[in-house]
Amino acid sequence: MPTADLRSDTLTRPTEAMRRAMVDAAVGDDVYGEDPTVLTLEREVAELLGHEAALFTPTGSMANQLGVRAHAAPGQEIIGDELAHVMRAEMGAAAVLSGITSRTWRAPRGLLDPAVPLALMAPAAGPYQVSTACVVVENTHNFGGGTVQPIEAMRELREATRAAGVRVHLDGARLWNAHVATGVPLADYGGCADTVSVCLSKGLGAPVGSLLAGPADVIAEARVWRKRFGGGMRQVGILAEAGRYALSRQLPRLAEDHARTARAAEAVAAARPEAVDPARVHTNILVVDVASAGWDAPDFVAAAAERGVLGYPTDARHARFVWHLDVTEEMTDHAAAVLAALVAEGPPA
Ligand SMILES: *Cc1c(COP(=O)(O)O)cnc(C)c1O
Repeated sequence: MPTADLRSDTLTRPTEAMRRAMVDAAVGDDVYGEDPTVLTLEREVAELLGHEAALFTPTGSMANQLGVRAHAAPGQEIIGDELAHVMRAEMGAAAVLSGITSRTWRAPRGLLDPAVPLALMAPAAGPYQVSTACVVVENTHNFGGGTVQPIEAMRELREATRAAGVRVHLDGARLWNAHVATGVPLADYGGCADTVSVCLSKGLGAPVGSLLAGPADVIAEARVWRKRFGGGMRQVGILAEAGRYALSRQLPRLAEDHARTARAAEAVAAARPEAVDPARVHTNILVVDVASAGWDAPDFVAAAAERGVLGYPTDARHARFVWHLDVTEEMTDHAAAVLAALVAEGPPA
């Protein structure tokens, strides 16, 4: 049995067919705005998300950071939930690169309750306090366990923040998964934010690449800052073509990942119901409360690895397992059996 590598959906390798598409991509110097494949991808993704323009970036972190800096001036703040990638996993970039401060709120499983940021935000706070410029929303929510944010919650937040003069940035690294899980059009999600980042390099299976979408003037300014951040790339149509291939061929198959994740969640819940509630496993990420079975998360992850299933401890209580393109049906059966056995057994005495 080959090892089921469920540490992340960033681990996917480009397929043979994707590699062939990359070889034939038309290219030019993208810093000169002359790479036709990049320009096409940017146009296609902007249209999918219902925005005027989009910008190709090397990483999702750069797309997020270009987004938040477009909304917040130095000394202003962004707010987001405490598990958000922008807050936890971008190495303090908003502070380091853009002089932006942050505050967070607590959100179980990362689920958005619009009333919470609306109560926390302090728009135009005057000369003595920090003003909130932007609310960051993550959909699906990574460390929250692939949680889909309800479109109604996003709309409510959008309407209220607009009225208050506060912007919304949507970290949509896995917005594709939310779209496939719910059937809500991508442009409906896109319509709930001033800027949207998306990743091609996660479950879609491209080797590299993200985009930031938004109004044309914001994207034009983000293009300048991308260069300033060192993200101006040259004949990068080779990578943009991988992204176009992923969007046209590999988007619908995310539903398979969701079905396999659900199957594993059911198996774990059958072995120990406290470890996971399958109703809360929305997409391709399974977070198991291993502490409910007496495990420390790093020990659980090590024990699973010994049995050929790789995961990631997100904190002392929880282990995360992520389904993607390179995880087969057979690996899913094996992973489900191993995780179920471990939560049933508990740690060695
Ligand atoms: C992966 C991810 C990103 C971007 O990550 P990079 O490694 O910088 O491409 C942003 N937000 C979320 C929620 C992610 O999971």
